[in-house]
Amino acid sequence: MAAPLNLLDFDRQALSAWCGQLGEKPFRATQLFRWMHQRGAGDFGQMSDLAKPLREKLTGRAQVCALPALGEQASSDGTVKWLFDVGGGNAVESVFIPEDDRGTLCVSSQAGCAVGCRFCATGHQGFARNLTTGEILAQLWFAEHTLRRRFNSQERMISNVVLMGMGEPLHNYGALLPALRVRLDDHGYGRSRRRLTVSTSGVVPMIDRLAADCPVALAVSLHAPGDALRDQLVPLNRKYPLAELLAACARYLDAAPRDFITFEYCLLGGVNDAPEQAQTLVRLMQTYRAEGLRAKFNLIGFNPFPASGLVRAAPERVRAFAAILSDAGIVTTVRKTRGDDIAAACGQLAGDVQDRTRARERMARRRAAAAVAFHRKQPAAAAPA
Ligand code: SAH
Ligand code: SF4
Repeated sequence: MAAPLNLLDFDRQALSAWCGQLGEKPFRATQLFRWMHQRGAGDFGQMSDLAKPLREKLTGRAQVCALPALGEQASSDGTVKWLFDVGGGNAVESVFIPEDDRGTLCVSSQAGCAVGCRFCATGHQGFARNLTTGEILAQLWFAEHTLRRRFNSQERMISNVVLMGMGEPLHNYGALLPALRVRLDDHGYGRSRRRLTVSTSGVVPMIDRLAADCPVALAVSLHAPGDALRDQLVPLNRKYPLAELLAACARYLDAAPRDFITFEYCLLGGVNDAPEQAQTLVRLMQTYRAEGLRAKFNLIGFNPFPASGLVRAAPERVRAFAAILSDAGIVTTVRKTRGDDIAAACGQLAGDVQDRTRARERMARRRAAAAVAFHRKQPAAAAPA
């Protein structure tokens, strides 16, 4: 028999089609889907109201394939970071950020990243591979149900999902799309499009595809007010320069669930944090406002890592930069850094595998140590497969 399929790879439509091939009606697929995503069941034996013949058909043909968690770190501010093994010496990270009115999960889409932004630890690692739909969803599945069990909660714990972990989500569009659909599906996680954000460094054709296929909230990593600097910081800009990117952002708003695009701007001391650069940015936004672009800015403090050779912008420069944007009528927030003490902040996610030559050995050591600690902490049902 062929290797069992991973049911986390399927959105509901695909699961229905596959169950149809087994001679099952669509409502059976919905039941199965609800067991997995709403109740966190990973074992067909747990799915008590699923007809026995279906459970028998599933056994051996399919599985709910969780990602092995290599470890977990909890920050003093409540942020939790998990490291997941994706095989071949690669690991990805997911971060849960609790706030008063929401719980946000930051999810990875690739092991490494090919874009290679200068200020990003994942970018410095290089690209290893795309995650599958199942691997993207396994992060959410694991985090949601682990947290529910831990806090003994009947309520959903994760209200918002952001594709801001490792990787460029729009470079992995084929796997991303079904994962987004499962998040939105009323029989899956049932959350609104406004509470699901894809963050991109600016893959222009895929921004248009996303608008057509599944328009969720969009965040765009800008980081520079002009092409010359953006070419240096975000090398993808050489392929899709600002004029093309901003025009795509304006088009996206026709379909978007929010009436603005969030622009992320990581402030790097002496590189992109000058008042004149803020003014140039204001003029750029005014130009595209005429084309229908509505923007909010999220200024991110740079989270340093040794290989970057870059430094954080000074607090007074951050304040001055924010004031110039705000005074020009652009809604601007300065993002609080969370999970600093566990390197869980933006751009620090490196999966601990930058040094690929030694990655495999290190992973094996960590796996042995982490498995003991982790399983001791988890109730049996929460243990990853
Ligand atoms: N590849 C996508 C999503 C993942 S990166 C993108 O680039 O948008 C998520 C966010 O973290 C991006 O805005 C990115 O610019 C930012 N980021 C990367 N490295 C950072 C660092 N060292 N400090 C602060 N923010 C960083
Ligand atoms: Fe990739 Fe985003 Fe990091 Fe750039 S910032 S290297 S696009 S993960």
